[in-house]
Amino acid sequence: MSTNPHIAIIGAGLGGLTLAKVLQLHRVSCTIYELEASPNVRTQGGSLDLKLESGQRALELAGLTKEFVAIARPEGDNMRMAGKDGKVLFAMQGFDFQDGFEAVQKVERERAEREKSAESKPVGVWDDAIRPEVDRGMLRQLFLDSLAPETIKWGHKLVSILTSNSSSTSHKHQLTFANGITVAADVVVGADGAWSYVRSAITSAKPEYTGVTMVEVQLSDVDTRFPEIGKMIGRGSFITSQDNKALMAQRNANSHVRTYVALRIAEDWVKTCNIPFETDPRETRLKILEYYQGWAPELRKLVELCDDAFTPRRIYQMPIGLKWEHKAGITVLGDAAHLLSPFGGEGANLAMLDGAELALAIASVASPNSDSTETMDSAIIRYEQVMFARGNETAAESDTTMTEFISEEGAARGAAYMRNQFTMHQGLPE
Ligand SMILES: Cc1cc2nc3c(=O)[nH]c(=O)nc-3n(C[C@H](O)[C@H](O)[C@H](O)COP(=O)(O)OP(=O)(O)OC[C@H]3O[C@@H](n4cnc5c(N)ncnc54)[C@H](O)[C@@H]3O)c2cc1C
Repeated sequence: MSTNPHIAIIGAGLGGLTLAKVLQLHRVSCTIYELEASPNVRTQGGSLDLKLESGQRALELAGLTKEFVAIARPEGDNMRMAGKDGKVLFAMQGFDFQDGFEAVQKVERERAEREKSAESKPVGVWDDAIRPEVDRGMLRQLFLDSLAPETIKWGHKLVSILTSNSSSTSHKHQLTFANGITVAADVVVGADGAWSYVRSAITSAKPEYTGVTMVEVQLSDVDTRFPEIGKMIGRGSFITSQDNKALMAQRNANSHVRTYVALRIAEDWVKTCNIPFETDPRETRLKILEYYQGWAPELRKLVELCDDAFTPRRIYQMPIGLKWEHKAGITVLGDAAHLLSPFGGEGANLAMLDGAELALAIASVASPNSDSTETMDSAIIRYEQVMFARGNETAAESDTTMTEFISEEGAARGAAYMRNQFTMHQGLPE
């Protein structure tokens, strides 16, 4: 290992960006290689709620809490759950919840009180919101703006890793990118998402279909164009599910609502369903709505009135309980390591925490201040042990949440599950 190791991070998602930022804070240099040609090639998807013990902890380790507070929406933490008749069965604000209508009233009353006293609150201090929401694109931009210039090499798709077994070569791995460029690296970190190339150099395990496919639809400028829908969704998210289907609406910044239409359905449905997602929005709406016959009219409006863009996504997860032998100088983080079903809302949070903790492990042996005698591989193994345990536990929870929500009983079962979870974790509310 060279004294100033070349650390190659593959992928500029939230996990790779957090890793790079924390490494740079500890004066360890690194380069991110990202397949996309530039930061703005695609929009970044919906909002994320960042959890205290994972996403927010990672931001703290990255020194970006203040910047995060400026773009976060604490009230986004509100969540309501209903069956296909639209009647609320469960509502939650932070970890404070009760069932039914009372809960909704309580959430609304507290919000009104908060707003009344907002002027007397210091800027950047949240009330009781434990998991403030943030738009994914804004969060990513925050990291991009904070990294040293030239940290990211855009348009670099990794297509090959050659590992040398000889101890005489100064760099262990030779990386080749689709653009023909080759670089040498001491440590390669796969932050390259669900279908990670780097992971394939460590294990043959692959993501498996969960049985659920989602179609993402949008309602722009909802409070002006469709105020009744804006009111129904409220400040956070409104999740409705029954009959092995769901309509899950979440409020993003700028009065934008993103809805995930979720169906428990065959893996090849997107190809075989004859829905013209890309060519005929009107027909696509009608065909999707056929799956939601008998659902409350106000819920069907989430699809009836949606904008013209439809994004189908099949939901995959890595086999739960997976571990592998450490491979010298190579590791993975985030979705590359433990792709989860998105129903727990944990994937980005864990990717960021993995990134921050891996950075601390690497910095403990590679930062200019380090007097550690530990090897780089031993430091990475320390990270991997914690990451495996946490990833597998969270994957199992996210899988259970999905099974409960996308079921015949849907929200009724999901609400009972949520009540149990919260009761277990912190006791019943007064
Ligand atoms: C519908 C949906 C909703 C979700 N909602 C939430 C939520 O509310 N909360 C939450 O915490 N999580 C959520 N998630 C999960 C979250 O999106 C992921 O867990 C998170 O983005 C993983 O981050 P990552 O950095 O590991 O990977 P990614 O964000 O996937 O980033 C990987 C990067 O690697 C690049 N890349 C891939 N291959 C290569 C290659 N060969 N060479 C170079 N670069 C490469 C990609 O272009 C990409 O930029 C959701 C996921 C889905 C699908």
